[in-house]
Amino acid sequence: MLAAVRSATLIGVDGQPVTVEVHVSSGLPAYQVVGLPDAAVRESRERVRAAVLSSGFEWPMRRITVNLAPGGIRKSGSGLELAVALGVLGANDALPAGVLDGVAVLGELGLDGSVRAVPGTLALVDALARAGVECVVVPALNASEAALVGGVRVRAARTLGELRACLKGEEPWPDWDPPPDVPGDSDSSIAGDDELVDLGDVRGLPFARSALEVAAAGGHHLLFCGPPGTGKTMLARRLATILPPLTHREALEVTRIHSAAGEPVTGRLLARRPFRAPHHTASTAALVGGGSGRARPGEITLAHRGVLFLDELGEFAPTALDALRQPLEERSVRISRQPVSLTFPAGFQLVACSNPCPCGAGAQGCRCSDAQRERYRRRLSAPLLDRFDLRVRVDAPESVDVRGESSASVAERVAAAYERQCARYADWPWSQNAHVAAGAVPRLLPLGPDADDAWRALIAERILTGRGATRIRRVARTLADLDDASAIAVEHLDGAALLRSDVP
Ligand SMILES: [Zn+2]
Repeated sequence: MLAAVRSATLIGVDGQPVTVEVHVSSGLPAYQVVGLPDAAVRESRERVRAAVLSSGFEWPMRRITVNLAPGGIRKSGSGLELAVALGVLGANDALPAGVLDGVAVLGELGLDGSVRAVPGTLALVDALARAGVECVVVPALNASEAALVGGVRVRAARTLGELRACLKGEEPWPDWDPPPDVPGDSDSSIAGDDELVDLGDVRGLPFARSALEVAAAGGHHLLFCGPPGTGKTMLARRLATILPPLTHREALEVTRIHSAAGEPVTGRLLARRPFRAPHHTASTAALVGGGSGRARPGEITLAHRGVLFLDELGEFAPTALDALRQPLEERSVRISRQPVSLTFPAGFQLVACSNPCPCGAGAQGCRCSDAQRERYRRRLSAPLLDRFDLRVRVDAPESVDVRGESSASVAERVAAAYERQCARYADWPWSQNAHVAAGAVPRLLPLGPDADDAWRALIAERILTGRGATRIRRVARTLADLDDASAIAVEHLDGAALLRSDVP
């Protein structure tokens, strides 16, 4: 007897539909899984068998072959177990024919037949919906997450026995479990407490504040350099409060990535752009992805469509910083994994803070030796420093008592400038000035009538390479967007040049 059940597996952060075929034939009792299962899938046999038996069903004492199709892709994790168990029931005549037509099934099994949550439900259901599945059966705990996809009916499963009864129409479908609680702030994310911080808390630093606003509006990489205690970290962390809103499609994409990475997902889409702040002791794998076992997305992928904030940039391992260069260029990262290599999205905005030297004092009262300073400078390699569109020195603020402008009012200007960019780039694969392809810059970011001479003078004076000139032009366009100006004027070029100083 043969039965087929639709399900899905994760490849990187994307779902891939899988058909689980179960064949029961005469012969000595045996159980074999074919079709590139990983170790976790192969080892699921005992769990599936125990779950079937403890749910009161018969385990066929015959030859059972489980085939996972398509055969060319690696199937990982335990989310296929529920589909395998239903396949065994179907092939053993314990399930009426046709009840699984148009239905896909996701879930891990406990030994007692309970259905447990699976990571990446959003990505898996999204892939199944695109493949034309009408109804998905998911663990009750994942049901509200699955419903975020839309366009597909979601049914909850709590136990294998109850699921069989529901499929046969003998029992009503169970209610969804409430989604898990929103997590508090973790080490690497300020989600949860960013409601409490505000740009209004930061006094003084008018130039650094305007750099932060430009970075938020145009998506530019930003480096603050200055001695400790100047408020540069406090300021950078508040970038999260002024970033432009996510579109619905972007929010779905970001939530899907976080779900596939095993981050807790509630029954709501992530409303804000991610803001990830890994510690400088983070390993290269934690930062860019990979690691032993199943390749996991790193901080740069969790920061996709948001910000990767590196405080104390000079303290990160040089190998970790070098590993950022390719993803910064391509906005995605390749992780080599036999037999295939995976590509994770990594369209993040890099924001960093750095001390001018190891002791932090910089020009005033530095106690470092020349050799120490030189070593530090080499650590922040020129190619990495070159990738920051905005490089701003932050010095100790003059004593000021007035509160700064609030996040809400800055965010309003940022959102308006962002909308102008979205309109301009409607037919292009990017939505912010920082991402305009170098070849398209002259045509898409034209200079105003008086700005040509200033542009040539700027290039000559700063001895700019093509790449540096392109970066300044993109920032100038963001300044023009914040001004609601149709073309780049001289003052925008001057402003962009000031925002890209030589640091440290
Ligand atoms: Zn020093």
